[in-house]
Amino acid sequence: MNLNVKQSVNAVKGIGEETAEALAEMNIFTIEDLLEHFPFRYEDYRLKDLAEVKHDERVTVEGKVHSEPSLVYYGRKRSRLTIRLLVGRYLIQVTFFNQPYLKSKIKMNETITVTGKWDQHRQTITASEAKLGSVVQTKDFEPVYAVRGSVTVKGIRRFINLAFSQYGDKVVETLPKQLLARYKLIDRNRALRTMHFPQSEEDLKQARRRFVYEEFLYFQLKMQALRKFERENSKGVAQNYDLPKLKDFINSLPFPLTNAQKRVVNETLADMKSPFRMNRLLQGDVGSGKTVVAAICLYASVTAGFQGALMVPTEILAEQHAESLKQLLEPFNISCELLTSSVKGKRRKEILERLQAGDIHVLIGTHALIQDEVEFNKLGLVITDEQHRFGVDQRRVLREKGENPDVLFMTATPIPRTLAITVFGEMDVSIIDEMPAGRKTIETYWAKQDMLDRVLGFMEKELTKGRQAYVICPLIEESDKLDVQNAIDVHAALSTFFQGRYQVGLMHGRLSSNEKDQVMKAFSQNEVQVLVSTTVVEVGVNVPNATMMVIYDAERFGLAQLHQLRGRVGRGSDQSYCILLADPKSEVGKERMKVMTETNDGFVLSEKDLELRGPGDFFGKKQSGLPEFKVADMVHDYRALETARNDAALLINSSEFWELPEYEALRNHLEKSGAFSHEKLD
Ligand code: ADP
Ligand code: MG
Repeated sequence: MNLNVKQSVNAVKGIGEETAEALAEMNIFTIEDLLEHFPFRYEDYRLKDLAEVKHDERVTVEGKVHSEPSLVYYGRKRSRLTIRLLVGRYLIQVTFFNQPYLKSKIKMNETITVTGKWDQHRQTITASEAKLGSVVQTKDFEPVYAVRGSVTVKGIRRFINLAFSQYGDKVVETLPKQLLARYKLIDRNRALRTMHFPQSEEDLKQARRRFVYEEFLYFQLKMQALRKFERENSKGVAQNYDLPKLKDFINSLPFPLTNAQKRVVNETLADMKSPFRMNRLLQGDVGSGKTVVAAICLYASVTAGFQGALMVPTEILAEQHAESLKQLLEPFNISCELLTSSVKGKRRKEILERLQAGDIHVLIGTHALIQDEVEFNKLGLVITDEQHRFGVDQRRVLREKGENPDVLFMTATPIPRTLAITVFGEMDVSIIDEMPAGRKTIETYWAKQDMLDRVLGFMEKELTKGRQAYVICPLIEESDKLDVQNAIDVHAALSTFFQGRYQVGLMHGRLSSNEKDQVMKAFSQNEVQVLVSTTVVEVGVNVPNATMMVIYDAERFGLAQLHQLRGRVGRGSDQSYCILLADPKSEVGKERMKVMTETNDGFVLSEKDLELRGPGDFFGKKQSGLPEFKVADMVHDYRALETARNDAALLINSSEFWELPEYEALRNHLEKSGAFSHEKLD
């Protein structure tokens, strides 16, 4: 056992009770915690040529003082000292904050060495340190730590040094030899030391690489263990579907399945046939053909003697799905019914009775499906579409209906693989990453807001051809805080503009669901030609005659969301267009608009979005399911994350992992992570 470094920090000579308490405030309890308290950056003391230093990078330079220091006080204790410094052929400015005592030390024409942050645009270094004379540095890098309370950076450097000198050789390797060898990772002891006291950048890179893999492997072992035990403990139903019938059904479709659809159908059917309960996420871009996959699985379930349910977030979607499923399934003697809150009275009663008797095979509906009064006869498969719109609780209620039905969550939000295997790590993930052949791509343009006249002219042309258009605004009504287009004003303006020629409708989240349905019906029946809306149209709506979308203030939306919105057009056989009205100020904003015009691939966009915005923003602040890593970065180290996931899955499912001594450290770690506690996940 690795007891030595599991002791409290005050076992280190030189760390007393008081220090231990202060460290505890920083969540450092054991010697190991202290050794794993990594620097968040390093002071780089290597002398550099300023020409090679990037903006905002930290740098150490040596130069000749070229002006008398000038000191300005503002506030009681705050001051700014500036000098001009000749560094090589650069004459730069150096600023020191709150170090007034330097004024008397820094002399004209003398050499000093300063360390700080380089502002390339202002040709200024904001210095944290100055040393007089030409300094021979004893080390190239010095660690800088996050500290709290009475603990100082210098203090913690000392504590870590003490811990290393007394306990450094007690650090035990946690990764098995074959993995270290396979990925050429350095051992734990050396990696730990290097994180704190790197000799070179390359050294540091190797140490980081080791810890990135280690962190991901720990995390993925937990997820894979959860997944395995969830699966094995979940008494599901083995659905022995009728393969010949299923093949007939697939052959009767008006089109061949894409390879991606075939793969996903196989993955899902394998789960359904197994005695374990399926817990699978199906991702597929808008239009990739998820509905057909759903139909095949529902049909399979019915041939195995079970009932199926499809749950969607809105009534309009429920109606659309019911219609397409009926078309596909009724010729095969499958009875499909729609159940929403607007199905009432005698009709509702009749549906509920037939459902209970098992006469209805497939039920399609909104959350009305999970009310208590809805009882199935033998529910085998539940599919939810656009699962991110459902709450966790609703999903659980649905899963508890019937005897552990298999569950398939479908979503059109292309979640980058990195995030999917993190957030949904304990679920199985299937991806439809291929579009049916012959799909026309939506032509996307980026226009400045002052080009609105031309955009409207273009829209008019489409309308003249008998087509329809969406106009999307970020807000419902005027806001004093934001200078952003709102749906109500735009609706008023466009109504005037198109008066006597075209009808303009208005849709937003504050309408009742009845009102929304009416607006949507009017649009889908072409009684309204232009629909001004907030993002409520984002999900699933299908009006193939709509060939144009204009999105106001497009820079305010995430790429994934813009792509979802854009997916409302391009659903018919005609060429469709999407125009992004945006005046982004930042480079990132411009980059995002450009990317939208360049690709129609939802996964490419979502990866890009993740890269540009980071994982926190990608899901919005509310999403807290993201784990925190000390060294690893989900975005930049995603390859390591995938590798670790595969390795973890292999390990968890191998007998060696559970038996051989070389995996003991990993097993202990897994046990500590809570993977075996019986708290319910959902
Ligand atoms: P999603 O729900 O994934 O957005 P749908 O299932 O609504 O996509 O499919 C979009 C359209 O593509 C539908 O009209 C559907 O009939 C058609 N479709 C689905 N699969 C194929 C395929 N393999 N080949 C050709 N068309 C397909
Ligand atoms: Mg769909």
